Amino acid sequence: SEGDIETGVVAIACGVWSPKLARMAGACIPLTPAVHQMIDIGPVPRFERATRSIEFPIVRDMDTNMYERQDGTSLEIGSYAHRPILYEPEDLPSVEEAPLSPTEFPFTQEDFAPQLEHALELMPEIVGDESVGIKYAINGILSLTPDGMPIVGETPEVEGLWSAAAIWVKEGPGFGKAIAEWMVYGESEIDLHSSDVARFHEHHGTSVHIKARTAEGFNKMYGIVHPAEQWASNRDLRLSPFHARERELGAVFFEAAGWERPQWYESNAPLLDEFADRVVRREAEWDARWWSPIINAEHLAMRERAAIFDLTAFSIFDVTGPGALDALQHVSQRQVDVPVGRVVYTPWLSPGGGFKSDLTIMRLADDEFRVVTGGAHGMADRKWLRDHLPQDGSAHGSAHLVDVTSEWCTLGLWGPRARDILATVSRDDLSGEGFPFATCRTIDVELLQVLASRISYVGDLGWELYVPMEQGARLWDVVWEAGRAHGAVPAGIGVYGTTGRLEKCYRAYGTELESEYTVVEAGMAPPRVKDADFVGKAAHLRHRDEEPAAILSTLTVDDHTSSTGVARYPLGREPILTRTGEPLTDSKGRRSYVTSAGAGPSLGKHLLMAYLPPEHAVAGAELAVEYLGERYPVTVAVAGATPVFDPENARIRA
Ligand SMILES: Cc1cc2nc3c(=O)[nH]c(=O)nc-3n(C[C@H](O)[C@H](O)[C@H](O)COP(=O)(O)OP(=O)(O)OC[C@H]3O[C@@H](n4cnc5c(N)ncnc54)[C@H](O)[C@@H]3O)c2cc1C
Repeated sequence: SEGDIETGVVAIACGVWSPKLARMAGACIPLTPAVHQMIDIGPVPRFERATRSIEFPIVRDMDTNMYERQDGTSLEIGSYAHRPILYEPEDLPSVEEAPLSPTEFPFTQEDFAPQLEHALELMPEIVGDESVGIKYAINGILSLTPDGMPIVGETPEVEGLWSAAAIWVKEGPGFGKAIAEWMVYGESEIDLHSSDVARFHEHHGTSVHIKARTAEGFNKMYGIVHPAEQWASNRDLRLSPFHARERELGAVFFEAAGWERPQWYESNAPLLDEFADRVVRREAEWDARWWSPIINAEHLAMRERAAIFDLTAFSIFDVTGPGALDALQHVSQRQVDVPVGRVVYTPWLSPGGGFKSDLTIMRLADDEFRVVTGGAHGMADRKWLRDHLPQDGSAHGSAHLVDVTSEWCTLGLWGPRARDILATVSRDDLSGEGFPFATCRTIDVELLQVLASRISYVGDLGWELYVPMEQGARLWDVVWEAGRAHGAVPAGIGVYGTTGRLEKCYRAYGTELESEYTVVEAGMAPPRVKDADFVGKAAHLRHRDEEPAAILSTLTVDDHTSSTGVARYPLGREPILTRTGEPLTDSKGRRSYVTSAGAGPSLGKHLLMAYLPPEHAVAGAELAVEYLGERYPVTVAVAGATPVFDPENARIRA
């Protein structure tokens, strides 16, 4: 009403109304307004002299999904235990229409009754005091998102349109600072990838998805959620062409970016007998939840023979045109100007030299590249790449990005028998000389033309095999039949993403690799830096001249025995301490914690990765990990990226 304001940057910070505003501009902020019930009781005699909030500790009662918080002479009792009560942004009344506030709905007593019982049980002296009355009771409205995380950053749909939504009061100041840094410097001091609005895949924006996941997630907000816990709603959305075969083999599916991926196969249970004592079991229910010892058995079968993996969840982008090479050189830390047929593994850096991503790039022709990255982070990578493509008409020529994720499926085949298996169905030269490591080529596999890429995230001889989606089932059948004679097994992401990866000390984006850590700290600095300029180069050069503040290391757990005599297995994110229990803090003020944890079945050890201050990042250094309140001794096996299994990489280059 006061006229127009012209600006290149607009931030939508409109709480539960944010989706409405985003839609006006053609962007998507997938959140839903949801009820959070809270009552305010008082005056509480015990708080008689209180004048401010939180003079007494806030109580968070994890078992009942509730909190109790002193505010002046009152006690606020809030609940995340009731049924999910969701609205559409359009359902919210205007300020004029709303009797109280547009985000305060009439209290639904019946939803809160059991919660009040819990509060009474926990604090009978206060809640049971008949002189203490209910002063205020509301169905307050807050934002819920499909994955429970905030939604911030520039929207992928509209340049210059930013989201600052689904942020709570407690993190508001931090997000304000971080978003301002991101706008001005191109990145924030704190890594925000898990809150990035660009993380969402197309289906995440549908009303059905938002409703189902937020309804399911509501009670998890205050609950104790296992780190590997899977969503139950909206499954079976993206199915690879191998899916029917996998189902027949008893695959246990985990979800990534809407894809169903086998985590392990129940049909591999007989491998438990075959590998007997070499398969470590987990006694404690929590450690064994969303896990199976079959993963370790699949791993051992891969190391002895071969395993077949479904990697269709990769996000795949073709970058073509006269400017393609320059565009990819510009975002990639490693040399991308390689001969046609080479595969390059490279980090993508943030301007400050931290990790924006890590992925592989195949050079398919002079001006044709295929970028392959993890499904979970694929959409953010796509935005980053698009943002860095040259404009049409630029001096270096144009480049085009096409998302071909839905066109190609990927089968992984790795293990010492992988070459023998593939050779039974392909007459192409698969020898070490004819098809060296880090190269890719189209080969015939039975009647299929297959793009084969000889790289590995599990540290064994083998290939990623790409065919068009509709030919995937045939590829599976052909490789499966060929593999049987060699004892190949199907193996899940439990091996691919954890056990195989950890034995090779391969880092993963989002766990080890974040913008808060540098390539040097991750132990991944190449011997020389390419001449071509790239995002983060100046910072990277500086980091190479400095002493790293921390060094990414791999540790082994020496003794798993808890005070009750049960062997416990850390799952990740636990603090690393000295043997006497002192936390480790590096010179940048960062605490050491477990970035990834999992079995190393070939080594018979449980492996942990952690960034350690240099004085502790020494092979043989004795430290401790704190897991569920107890300390367990650990030893540094390797400081840096040298694999703990097959350190010479003989297998991968066989
Ligand atoms: C009962 C209850 C208890 C809570 N307790 C806590 C707690 O203990 N700790 C905590 O951290 N969080 C808590 N929260 C959550 C917290 O209140 C919200 O997450 C937070 O207020 C959201 O802030 P916001 O600025 O994003 O949105 P809001 O506070 O909703 O602000 C959005 C603003 O945008 C304005 N707006 C809307 N449309 C437009 C438009 N078209 N143009 C211009 N302006 C517009 C609105 O008028 C509003 O002022 C609680 C929430 C509830 C309901």
